[in-house]
Amino acid sequence: MTLALGCIADDYTGASDLANTLAKQGLRTVQTIGIPSADLPLPEVDAIVISLKIRSVGASDAVERARAAQDWLRTRGAAHVMYKICSTFDSTDAGNIGPVLDALRADALETSVLVTPAFPETDRTVYKGNLFVGAVPLNESSLRDHPLNPMRDANLVRVLARQSTAAVGLVELATVAQGADAIRTRLELLSTSGTGAAIADAVFETDLEAIGTAALAQRLSVGASGLGLGLARGLIAAGTARRQQRVTIREQPIGGPAACLAGSCSRATLAQIAKAEQTMPVLRLDPEKLVTDPSETVERALTWATEHLTKGPILISSSAPPDAVSRLQERHGREAAGHTIERSLAMIAGGLVELGVRRLVVAGGETSGAVVDRLAIPAFELGTEIAAGVPVLRTLGTQYGEMALALKSGNFGGEGFFADALAIIA
Ligand code: ADP
Repeated sequence: MTLALGCIADDYTGASDLANTLAKQGLRTVQTIGIPSADLPLPEVDAIVISLKIRSVGASDAVERARAAQDWLRTRGAAHVMYKICSTFDSTDAGNIGPVLDALRADALETSVLVTPAFPETDRTVYKGNLFVGAVPLNESSLRDHPLNPMRDANLVRVLARQSTAAVGLVELATVAQGADAIRTRLELLSTSGTGAAIADAVFETDLEAIGTAALAQRLSVGASGLGLGLARGLIAAGTARRQQRVTIREQPIGGPAACLAGSCSRATLAQIAKAEQTMPVLRLDPEKLVTDPSETVERALTWATEHLTKGPILISSSAPPDAVSRLQERHGREAAGHTIERSLAMIAGGLVELGVRRLVVAGGETSGAVVDRLAIPAFELGTEIAAGVPVLRTLGTQYGEMALALKSGNFGGEGFFADALAIIA
């Protein structure tokens, strides 16, 4: 199998965002959870995104895992590997972007690589090496006080230089605007003077296309989903990949019982649950009991599900409005309450699958992560979008056969989201 593009994402949600961006551009895309086993059955695809959790672990740990991911992608035939970082360049002077970049570059036998976290669609732009979040420089945005990676310097040439063993250069917007050849020439010049990485300015999508095309002449690049967009367009323009219609589940229905799980307490999800109550049975779990007596609550929920599943889709929810959430958190602590509820919902997901559910819609980012871990899903193929940012996911390599999933961040989707999702994952 030849793979046009291999990606290593430093966290799961970033990986999903990148995979969805690539699929939207027309690449047949698979997202894996961690580094897959050698024998993972894969369909013919253009891109694979390996989701790691290495953004905030120790640098040596991050380097080791990223190198293993690159090895896996290269053995699968990846000609180009993109290391996916956050569009706000989340990192500290200890890493992990610099150390991982240095190691991947050495393994890829490159001297200098292009780096850009720009993603104009989400208002992340880079000018003169400075990253802007909306209208303000990174260090004036809320990222200044991020609990894990406080970003106090908007100049990415300096930020990356503090993390990397090699010198860091800049490909200015004026060069980027001249196109891919000009970018390559500039990068070659920088690399002859010992530069190991070059921050590339980008303000518009056309800049990302030029950067993506230039990067494809090399074996490695570093950036956020915006760079993925540029690489995908570059691959299609070069004829290396063909623009595909996104796969619809309807072509090969999954069938079997369907269920929805909601652990998000966002305003959007609360409205979506209220709407779903008009069309399907909804079980509202008692959050207090979910925390204090999870096994009993999970068991009751599964008994309820057994009674209703044969008649049609169901929804099980722990979601509550903000005042109730705050009260629960005051009683049990924010982390403890959150994690216990996530685990309980994941156990319910496991039970539902044992009951035969093969179509599952999950609301909540953390909740979705817990469900995916519990179901030990190795990989997904990306399908059509149900709502912006929420693709249909078809599982690959699970022990209980194929499933169709929709995993949604709290605020995503319109009011009829649950019914919309169920209509699409036939
Ligand atoms: P979102 O995508 O909206 O942020 P998440 O699933 O990421 O949703 O986060 C929601 C968090 O709230 C999870 O940790 C979940 O376990 C927790 N949670 C769910 N229901 C309740 C509740 N009733 N009270 C307090 N916390 C809850």
